[in-house]
Amino acid sequence: MKLEQITLLAVFILAGCNHRPVPPPPMDTLSDSYPQNLIFLIGDGMGLSQISAAIYSQDDKNLFSAFPVIGLQKTYSGSDLVTDSGASATAMACGVKTYNNAIGVDMDTLPRQSILERAALEGLATGVIATSSIVHATPACFFAHHWMRVEYEAIALDLVDSDVDFFIGGGLKFFSRREDDRDLVYELEQKGFLIKNYFDEELSYSLVNPSKKFGYFTSDNRPLPAIQGRDYLPQATRMGLNYLAKKSERGFFLMVEGSQIDWTCHSNQGNQLLAELEDFNQTIREVLKFYEKHPNTLIIVTADHETGGLAINPGSTFRQLDLQFTTNGHTATMVPVFAIGPGAQYFSGIYENTDLNKRLLMAMGWQE
Ligand code: MG
Ligand code: ZN
Repeated sequence: MKLEQITLLAVFILAGCNHRPVPPPPMDTLSDSYPQNLIFLIGDGMGLSQISAAIYSQDDKNLFSAFPVIGLQKTYSGSDLVTDSGASATAMACGVKTYNNAIGVDMDTLPRQSILERAALEGLATGVIATSSIVHATPACFFAHHWMRVEYEAIALDLVDSDVDFFIGGGLKFFSRREDDRDLVYELEQKGFLIKNYFDEELSYSLVNPSKKFGYFTSDNRPLPAIQGRDYLPQATRMGLNYLAKKSERGFFLMVEGSQIDWTCHSNQGNQLLAELEDFNQTIREVLKFYEKHPNTLIIVTADHETGGLAINPGSTFRQLDLQFTTNGHTATMVPVFAIGPGAQYFSGIYENTDLNKRLLMAMGWQE
């Protein structure tokens, strides 16, 4: 086939599907300078099939195409080919392969510095936001060090002693009704936090003053699923970005997790998955809006692993996806990494999840 024929065929194929081709992102979004801010978004369990489902079901409203750099990370842990969220978040946060169930510790259960802790040492403000409890594995790996992920009350103690300036997530009971009878809400307040919760007032009414630290509990334990009306993640992210941008002149590090993408895949619920993905997409929208005004920000969107072995079956259409899962657990498939902003160029290629951490340090100018 001649080149003109191939071009014609391509035009024909594009015209035949009524989706507008998305123009490639401008290359001036890549730069050699160090970013001031780092925003790290994790869709827990969000593999390429989940992202494909988001793109096909949300048509041209989805935002994954906005990122000029895409890479793939290998998610296996130090103990298993199929990782859990503790080992994979430890790999991304601390740069070390560890055993499944670990929280910010290595194979010998020794604590390893997380990127959030490094950011605080560098004088940056820090934040953690999740749609799970705030002491659940993924957020915990950024501020806690514990040998076993289910020890939520111990992980809550680490949050009190951490460098976190701003957090929003569930799990109030691990702070307020504990086996050891300590009142960690009071202890957080003693450490300069303004603490609010879903029972006192809505998140939207919370006035966030950057001269104080801020924490908001969205639920007693697990927040609701998106399909039951939970919609705070985009708003919490907007609040966090406004707060952190004012908190330190040096910049900030913010981790945001769409925690329940994973849970809907564990329970093999395709419709619930699409609702969680839409919530995460709205959160990416908030982050990209911030980026327009603050281009000295590096944004990474990735997953810790794939969950459910999701397939988009034959017979699917753009509006009606036939989603099928092959497992109730996680899988070993590689997961995409999307990057935009100064330093984004470090994130193309295929690499270990621990090298994602090393590339973050390089991009920020923090490598040893
Ligand atoms: Mg998680
Ligand atoms: Zn999971």
